[in-house]
Amino acid sequence: MVLVAGSSVYNGQISPSSKQIEKYPVDQAMVDNIRQEGFDHSELSNTLSYMTDVLGARLTNSNDMHRAQTWATGEMGRIGLANIQIEPFMDYGVSWDNEYFSLHLLEPDYQVMLGYPIAHTPGINGRQKMAVVIADIKTKSDMEKYRGKLRRKAVLSTPPPTIDITRYRKGVQRWTDEELREIAETPTPPRSPRPPRNPDLVTAVERNAFFKKEGVAVILESRSGWLAAVRGFARPGAKIDKWSRKETKIHLPIVAVTPEHYNRMYRILERGLPVKIEIEIRTKVGKVVQKASNVLGEIPGSDLKEELVMLGAHFDTWHASPNASDNTSGVAVMLEAVRILNAVGAKPRRTIRIALWSGEEQGLHGSREYVYKHFGNPDDPEVGIKPGYEKLSAYFNQDYGPGQYRGIYLQGNEGVRQTFTSWMKPFEDLGMTTVSLRGVGSTDHVYFDRVGLPAFQFLQDRVGGTGGHTNLDFYDTLPIEDLKKNAVIMASFVYHAAMTEKQLPRKQK
Ligand SMILES: [Zn+2]
Repeated sequence: MVLVAGSSVYNGQISPSSKQIEKYPVDQAMVDNIRQEGFDHSELSNTLSYMTDVLGARLTNSNDMHRAQTWATGEMGRIGLANIQIEPFMDYGVSWDNEYFSLHLLEPDYQVMLGYPIAHTPGINGRQKMAVVIADIKTKSDMEKYRGKLRRKAVLSTPPPTIDITRYRKGVQRWTDEELREIAETPTPPRSPRPPRNPDLVTAVERNAFFKKEGVAVILESRSGWLAAVRGFARPGAKIDKWSRKETKIHLPIVAVTPEHYNRMYRILERGLPVKIEIEIRTKVGKVVQKASNVLGEIPGSDLKEELVMLGAHFDTWHASPNASDNTSGVAVMLEAVRILNAVGAKPRRTIRIALWSGEEQGLHGSREYVYKHFGNPDDPEVGIKPGYEKLSAYFNQDYGPGQYRGIYLQGNEGVRQTFTSWMKPFEDLGMTTVSLRGVGSTDHVYFDRVGLPAFQFLQDRVGGTGGHTNLDFYDTLPIEDLKKNAVIMASFVYHAAMTEKQLPRKQK
């Protein structure tokens, strides 16, 4: 074991002395092996291509997801993991798959149009031709203008979006030294408070209920203004426990249309000219409420095998593209990290467990249920503390796009600063330099953190454009070299966390 001497690390706060660093040694020989395996024998691009090209989208509880989860168990077996499991959680809902969709402008001119049905909305019977009308409903009184006029029509239900043409030119945006210093030295910026809701405005749920009552055939919408993209696929007001077959049936089909095509229809209608479309939507809705499931696998530990280090990413996606960046990239990095560890013959003291979550996009359901079941929740007497609570040293997650790791967020846990500073040191040359005390959210480490377990997200470079729940998130725009670095760093962090004498310290309450 080689100790890396401490030095002033660029975190803007504490520069650990070499004495402090020595308490958290780095196994330099292992790091060298991990780097060699991860850079010279990488399987990452092959995994990413298979997942995005062959498996594709993976909406929670869809048939696509079940097929992909079966693949994941096979892949874990190939890597040499043990205790591979598909572990069910909660009565999640009926399955939903979009089997076919087509949309064409027929009048005043023919054009193929691009759109996607929103998840968990029904299909329509056969191929239908229908008139399109604007339904500009912002307030309750607006509804009166449209009463009795929308029957069997497709409605343009949102205002025409403004298109941002710069978005896809950005590519990978590296954090600058100045920005990294800012992240390291300053606390999480406070969220700007939401403006109070105007009670006269109708919600999307109220608007859609009105359309249903009025006999509208299809709701069309376009929200993002991302060039050529459809973005956002959650049905307004959707609650997981309501995804029964009946609940899906009482809604109208909602179709999100790319901004250019949507705006073209809008402008024609504003001229007072008629618009006619042909549309077909076939969805397959399951008959019974099913449980959703996470996929897990392990590298068994040795003398501390009852203790755990976890790494994970959400396996589920929205359904309009393979979602290469969100979060196929995170999943592939985690699989590659455990593959590297097995390939270099790592013999961890603690058990290393990988988790591929589902239900993340609908509200972190998979990771939350897993945390409650295996570790508990000290703040909820009904859940209580489980025996596993004292056994987890740390959880590491990736879900901020496919950009490379530039540092790590301590999630408010000052006690791990020196450890992580030491573990980052061998990757300084890759740009992994920043430790920030900030706590970050919106993904699967959140419930670990909430119940008091050490759980972390890495600080990643931003990749502009195609990600973020769009139909454009494919293999082609992934920065593969960035992701190779992430897998190497992840493997090293997980390995070192599995080897420490003591578990990582938890946050002081
Ligand atoms: Zn995500």
